[in-house]
Amino acid sequence: MKLDKKILGNKRKDYLTWDEFFIGIAKLSASRSKDPNTQVGACIVSDSNRILSIGYNGTPNNFNDDDFPWNREGKTENETKYPYVCHAELNAILNFAGTRSELKGSRIYVDLFPCNECAKAIIQSGISEVIYLSDKYNGTPGNEASKLLFDQCGIKYRQLDPNQRILKLSLRPDEPIQFLDK
Ligand SMILES: [Zn+2]
Repeated sequence: MKLDKKILGNKRKDYLTWDEFFIGIAKLSASRSKDPNTQVGACIVSDSNRILSIGYNGTPNNFNDDDFPWNREGKTENETKYPYVCHAELNAILNFAGTRSELKGSRIYVDLFPCNECAKAIIQSGISEVIYLSDKYNGTPGNEASKLLFDQCGIKYRQLDPNQRILKLSLRPDEPIQFLDK
């Protein structure tokens, strides 16, 4: 049986694209971060557009947020956040509760291009594509190492248009997301 075209309703036109939806989830995850300077979120997605895992930059399990050296500078490296903080991508990979084979061929959305440590974890986990918004460390040695790793290991990476639509998300009832002009 075929439905008469006349009875079909009009489909909504301004729904989110998959890229917008998943980078939105990554950004929403980032808002959970306690880091006062950098909030990064990541969302791992299967090739059939199922969300497999999410993560944001934060403290290792059982390391109390309030006892954490959140600063970027200190007398020694160990008085800064850098040796301790878990990045969003690594957390998303480690938070994944399924079997390793499900990550094979998946893609990761992240609002900042991955550092070289996360790049290695991404490669080893089986993720095959990285989709990112910001590349503010472009040209730094760590950033170039990430790109070399991805190029050598056949991981695709693409930057989303930084001039994305702006969504206004209300957490109040009966207030749908609004799409603002760019
Ligand atoms: Zn990282």
